[in-house]
Amino acid sequence: MKFSDILADPRIAERWQKVRKWFFLRESTYDMTHRCNIRCNGCYYYEGDKQFARENRDPAAWRELMRAEKKRGITFVVLAGAEPSLVPELCEVCYQEIPLGAIATNGLAVIPRSVGYRVHVSVWGTDETSLGVRKAKHMLVRQIENYGGDPRAVFVYTFTRENIGEAHAVAATLRAADCRLTFNMFSAPVGYRDGLRHTRESLRECRRTMLALLERHPGHVLFSPYSAVAHTHPLGLHALFGCSYPRMNAAADVGLGRTFRQYRTDLTWDRGASCCVPDTDCADCRHYAAGSAVVTARMFRHATDPAAFSAWLDYVDTYLAVWVTGYEKGANLSAAPVAPPGFGLE
Ligand code: SF4
Ligand code: SF4
Repeated sequence: MKFSDILADPRIAERWQKVRKWFFLRESTYDMTHRCNIRCNGCYYYEGDKQFARENRDPAAWRELMRAEKKRGITFVVLAGAEPSLVPELCEVCYQEIPLGAIATNGLAVIPRSVGYRVHVSVWGTDETSLGVRKAKHMLVRQIENYGGDPRAVFVYTFTRENIGEAHAVAATLRAADCRLTFNMFSAPVGYRDGLRHTRESLRECRRTMLALLERHPGHVLFSPYSAVAHTHPLGLHALFGCSYPRMNAAADVGLGRTFRQYRTDLTWDRGASCCVPDTDCADCRHYAAGSAVVTARMFRHATDPAAFSAWLDYVDTYLAVWVTGYEKGANLSAAPVAPPGFGLE
């Protein structure tokens, strides 16, 4: 089928025009600090040696880095770490230089409103579960106090093997506070042996739960049926779509492989370790941040028929709504899950 035939459907054509305006986004990620105010089981930041990098806390050095990043074509920054809210002055400098981006935070401190990035607040279950896994009390209550009503905020519910059923209660709480949420999948760090790693059965259960929540809270859940398929398939993102980050493609010098860097707190970067979730086990990678680049990059594979392309457009529309301040998600074009090109549904 020709691409022009797929675009003959006006809903598909309209969505294509909407998302393609954002194809200029070129992402890199930055560890802002090696400190965190909590310590979670399964945190990939505290795996590997990036956690031992010296901290550069000089705003002038960060400004210089951002200006250099802009010059080499970076238009979107992801500030992560450990916990970026502990260095608000550095986040501010980044925002002044590159105004599109997102911050990954545990939500226990307020990032000043003057930093206009998307703010991703990580949620790992009910407060009881978070106390066990993240060793922090009243997390959701405090996160809603800090970010309820904040138009920058998207709450990111990470499904582990142990918190799947709780997602219903958490989503209801977030909806009652008029907060938007999306979904992430726990993706085990290299060498991880504890009980949060997914199994075939837990992946199936996650997919069922995501689809049910999408149906129940359509105005608050930023997700699509195809996002659910892509992130809960027994094959991880790399096996399904081919990861294009430099860490996975040592030699590739095109697209993401050419521009993406993952900076450590000392402002150095290492091509061999560069991806959005370094020290994650690639075979288990279903992380939402990884999918935002890996699935989005595979447009041509999905441009084969209206069903596959609609599913891909839903994925990209979801990704933009989750990551870009002010981008509003449209209604999903696909009502039901669609299999990734070349694979079954699971
Ligand atoms: S809040 Fe984030 S950075 Fe801090 S320990 Fe937990 S997962 Fe790691
Ligand atoms: S962890 Fe995920 S995003 Fe990173 S290189 Fe591996 S497959 Fe790619």
